[in-house]
Amino acid sequence: MNKLSRMAELVGLLEKEQTLTDSDLRELFDILAESCSEDADRCVQIREEIPAARCTEEEALLYAAARRAREKYYGNDVYLRGLIEFTNYCRNNCYYCGIRTGNTRIDRYRLDKDTILECCREGYALGFRTFVLQGGEDPYFANSINGDERLCDIVSSIHGEFPDCAVTLSIGERSRESYQRLFDAGARRYLLRHEAASPDLYRTLHPSEMSLENRKRCLYDLKEIGYQVGAGLMVGPPGQTTEHLIEDLKYLQELQPDMIGIGPYIPQADTPFGRSTAKCAQGLDKTQKLQLTLRLLAVLRILFPYALIPSTTALASLDPHGRILGLQAGANVIMPNLSPASARENYSIYDNKLYTGAESAQGMTALQKQVEAAGYQIVTDIGDVKCH
Ligand code: SAM
Repeated sequence: MNKLSRMAELVGLLEKEQTLTDSDLRELFDILAESCSEDADRCVQIREEIPAARCTEEEALLYAAARRAREKYYGNDVYLRGLIEFTNYCRNNCYYCGIRTGNTRIDRYRLDKDTILECCREGYALGFRTFVLQGGEDPYFANSINGDERLCDIVSSIHGEFPDCAVTLSIGERSRESYQRLFDAGARRYLLRHEAASPDLYRTLHPSEMSLENRKRCLYDLKEIGYQVGAGLMVGPPGQTTEHLIEDLKYLQELQPDMIGIGPYIPQADTPFGRSTAKCAQGLDKTQKLQLTLRLLAVLRILFPYALIPSTTALASLDPHGRILGLQAGANVIMPNLSPASARENYSIYDNKLYTGAESAQGMTALQKQVEAAGYQIVTDIGDVKCH
């Protein structure tokens, strides 16, 4: 059987069963990788209006199946999330992240409640019905009664002023009691990428004081409390292999998250990975990261047809067409930045992160045009997960 027919068979199985054995998944990723390196002339366009959207026939089969899956649950709707990066203080020292505590070369900031509410007001007027408060694990908001009170005050103020909106938190690992208090204050969704389901890879990416067990404990606590939960990972960091990605897929199947965030790993110069001159410390190259992120996104969409999956800022930062390519590979959420302009440049988790134009609330008209040209529509909707 030739590779294209085998790919059609694997995609068919994936669509029908919404699962694949490890060896079938391995074969699927291998065929996709080989088809790309073998014959660039066999590339087809995903959509004619986006010249960069070239992919092999094998990839086109996968993306078409992913689009069928998302259309079944979500049609062509794209949900908006207004991202408010409210603090870049962080107690952690992840080797890849620009806001790690060991980075002395960024200006630290923390937004106050009034500024955050102003961001929400601007977003609400533009049609946003979800506000995502994201930040480092800031000691000021730490897992203590004081820290919880400060956060709960912000959450309940947003919830009180915008009762028809969802408040999503993405503020890292906390105690179950703290997650419960934030839920009681009105938060209903939580994004916490598991980062790597393989203990070995997790250890390569994080210092010893962080643990995969605690990350997983947090995700299960959040689920049990009743949050809509998002997990996910970076694609292409140093040391990540296909086997690791298969472990991630298996873990996600066990967790059954409502949201899945994946984006390419992009080096940041003031981190241990970014500073290293070793080629392997840079992870995959740009093209490989783009291709692999899109393929993984499509596989995720077929495995989790109900899930809310963003076409991430990292994807858009990696490639000018990244955001739209992400939608065409199965994503159905975009997260423009609502933070004040002065804060954005300091939330520098990786280099050359986009925060203006269509990535920002101010660029909504441009974003809308891009999305519509690709055949999708941005909706003003709270955008809860569809049942699974
Ligand atoms: N502190 C919270 C947490 O740990 O979940 C949220 C903030 S953290 C900066 C948000 C996400 O940024 C992480 O889950 C990680 O996957 C991503 N990230 C960090 N550094 C990155 C990099 N260099 N390239 C791409 N993504 C990165």
